[in-house]
Amino acid sequence: MTDSKRTVTLIKGDGIGPEVADAVVRILAAAGAKIDWEVCEAGAEVFRRGLSSGVPAETIASIERTRVALKGPLETPVGFGEKSANVTLRKLFELYGNVRPTREIPGVQGVFAGRRIDLVVVRENVEDLYTGIEHMQTPGVAQCLKVISRKGCEKIVRLAFELARAEGRKRVHCATKANIMKMTEGLLKRTFEAIAPEYAGIEAEHIIIDNCAHQLVRYPEQFDVIVTTNMNGDIISDLTSGLTGGLGLAPSANIGNDVAMFEAVHGSAPTIAGKDLANPTALLLSACMMLRHIGQFAPADTIENAVVYTIELGKTLTCDLIAQEFAVTTSRFTQAVIENFGRRPDGWVAREHRPIRLPQVERRPDMVRPASRRVVGLDVFLESGEMPHAIGPALEALVEGTPVAMRSLANRGVQVYPLRGRTPDCVDAYRARFLLRDGGELSDSAALELLQRVGAKFRWAHVEKLQEFDGAPAFAKDQGED
Ligand code: NAP
Repeated sequence: MTDSKRTVTLIKGDGIGPEVADAVVRILAAAGAKIDWEVCEAGAEVFRRGLSSGVPAETIASIERTRVALKGPLETPVGFGEKSANVTLRKLFELYGNVRPTREIPGVQGVFAGRRIDLVVVRENVEDLYTGIEHMQTPGVAQCLKVISRKGCEKIVRLAFELARAEGRKRVHCATKANIMKMTEGLLKRTFEAIAPEYAGIEAEHIIIDNCAHQLVRYPEQFDVIVTTNMNGDIISDLTSGLTGGLGLAPSANIGNDVAMFEAVHGSAPTIAGKDLANPTALLLSACMMLRHIGQFAPADTIENAVVYTIELGKTLTCDLIAQEFAVTTSRFTQAVIENFGRRPDGWVAREHRPIRLPQVERRPDMVRPASRRVVGLDVFLESGEMPHAIGPALEALVEGTPVAMRSLANRGVQVYPLRGRTPDCVDAYRARFLLRDGGELSDSAALELLQRVGAKFRWAHVEKLQEFDGAPAFAKDQGED
């Protein structure tokens, strides 16, 4: 344990946030954690004052200074203009790794009680469909861009393995949908497979995400660490929280290049807010993760043992864990945890915790350089209310006598011209694929000329260059395309 005091930004948050945050501050002080809290605002009250980000400049400055924050839940207003303050904080500080442990606490009733679940989901937190790049292609067709980078994959995979190493875990699963999205989800799989051999002694296995969900509800005890992309992780980490007693118990960490923010998985629970009823365990376990992150292992162990002991004993439980008539208040539960310092639960063996070696990341863009590359064609996304057999020949005629040929026409990813089988239900957004007839490279001026020709007859929404890297196509084929 370090002897020096550490300043930590505390955002108490909305709803039950202040009650559970106060309980946590009390317990950490009693356990001898060496922390100076810098209390800051974010969330509902800030939105009410008209700040649409929900996070004031002083809060951002405080986190910049302290580099560590403990955060209560923040309400996301259901209105227009306001952004989620949680997402703002994640993006501002590049908190790329969302770490959510799920461990069975002895004494908590549930379908999986006794199965000794003890796993961590490591979710990529800033890329994927959550980059927020959405466009209406036509008034009736929406599109959201799934962005996955080699750099992002490398950071999250390394974080997962480093966490496994720090906690003495033996197995890392990489859960993706690489069988369908071979480039985006496949990039995480390929990066995982490239990095895994660096971690001798930790078993590495790929699993398709849907099978992972199935396995999680059948044999959850087989999992140790699961690393996955943002959307997959969003869903399965809520699933895993539900395996062992629910939201009142689920902690999390958001890890960034040089900032980390710790928070409970639950929200502001407005129905029980202000009633001294909420369970502070989730935020308390998040605070234990925070203490270990800043090297204060001893108070983290004291608190973890005491809170698990208190729950295992079953005499002082909050209303999420026991029938209302037997439940105690947040304050009473807090007191019980403090009284149980020094006790060790029977059904719980403390995990080893060593400092996590975080991936070292350069801020500048890192270029992945292929030995060779060339542009071989253009995909033009266009709007039309015609059927494919009318559009296809019209496009072919437009490029007659030019270096490019119209290769195919697709509708929602299915080749519809030349037709293979039956024409599917069509929408008014098509993708026309043009490829160079005789090899070589498609220059920008040739691409612009092609676009002009198409634009003379059709309304186009966007274009995508078709490239080859190291001789391999860097674009997906359509369903039905050979
Ligand atoms: P929620 O606040 O997590 O609450 C859902 C229910 O879970 C509560 O009504 C309560 O059930 C129970 N619960 C949650 N935490 C508990 C605790 N510590 N102790 C005891 N029971 C607990 O989810 P929500 O109602 O969907 O969201 C409410 C607001 O929170 C929304 O504005 C949402 O945007 C925000 N939110 C913020 C975060 C965050 O800041 N990270 C995360 C999620 C949601 P009973 O009512 O049955 O007692």
